[in-house]
Amino acid sequence: MSRFWSDRVHDLVPYVPGEQPHRPGLVKLNTNECPYGPSPQALDAIRAATGDTLRLYPDPASLSLRDALARHHRIDRAQVFVGNGSDEVLAHAFGGLLRHDAPLLFPDVTYSFYPVYCGLYDVSYETVPLDDGLAIRVEDYRRPCGAIIVANPNAPTGIALPLSGIETLLADHPDQPVLVDEAYVDFGASSAVRLIDRYPNLLVVHTLSKSRALAGLRVGAAFGHPSLIEALLRVKDSFNSYPIDRLAEAGAVAAIADQAWFETTRARIVRSRGHLVAGLERLGFSVLPSAANFVFARHARHGGAALQAALREAGVLVRHFNKPRIADYLRITVGTDAECAVLLDALSTVLADHAALPS
Ligand SMILES: *Cc1c(COP(=O)(O)O)cnc(C)c1O
Repeated sequence: MSRFWSDRVHDLVPYVPGEQPHRPGLVKLNTNECPYGPSPQALDAIRAATGDTLRLYPDPASLSLRDALARHHRIDRAQVFVGNGSDEVLAHAFGGLLRHDAPLLFPDVTYSFYPVYCGLYDVSYETVPLDDGLAIRVEDYRRPCGAIIVANPNAPTGIALPLSGIETLLADHPDQPVLVDEAYVDFGASSAVRLIDRYPNLLVVHTLSKSRALAGLRVGAAFGHPSLIEALLRVKDSFNSYPIDRLAEAGAVAAIADQAWFETTRARIVRSRGHLVAGLERLGFSVLPSAANFVFARHARHGGAALQAALREAGVLVRHFNKPRIADYLRITVGTDAECAVLLDALSTVLADHAALPS
């Protein structure tokens, strides 16, 4: 608390990111990073961009990156926006597209940054409960609203909506913007990018942090009708003219071009996810059906907070949310098979120790 703060700072409830430990040697399955390094071509491009040209500002319009994304998705540059991580892209969308008199709708269990942005940008919102299986029911969004945002697959559940569900949302709300946050789409869901020509109210947000293994580079994007993109550009150019630095632009362009790395890596993660789910089920967990690079699992006899703490003691970081409906769950990032084996071993020891305690 400081008397120098403006009122709105007093009222902010900031997002709490997953721990980035300084202690080496931990098995880090808590922030949905990729367990493999990024495309070697991306790293080469970043190295090649380090030099005297760093004295120059980057291209404020990020044309080479927007063109690379437009080519990749077979759309126009005017349908592409890029930002400093998809969190920044989302922030601009909350300020520029999702704030209306009627409330923004999003699920009661979803990415916990959404209510934070509502607080920062004064967006009124209502949450819509997931069903008993923690899935989105699109019919429940048939109510007056100013806009809708859903993550697909949803986080932290990992459950994907089929594209038909997204189309229902779009068709039910032709006069409201509908934002689909596809941070995890490459691990098992269908992308709505192909729908942007048909639905001028659709904005799809992507990130290079997960399926391109570039969380450290901070690059995200949005795809939609040129008028939605123009709104984001207006906000961006009123905030920071240079969100994509020279290294980020070079690395991102090369990463998008390396389709072979992308396909191999996501296939490995999807395969490891299958092994991880089977291992967790053998230990007595129930695991929600995941289309993401993480799983959301709970144990019949042990709470999420206790398990997370015990795993930390054993050197394995996972994420736990102390929130209604999901406090019993752990969100576990799919690591390498070796990392998943360490996690399963640690869990089996923890569960055996706890079973031995008198209850
Ligand atoms: C990780 C994540 C993001 C943010 O990714 P950036 O690293 O900021 O690009 C956005 N939405 C969801 C649902 C995420 O899980």
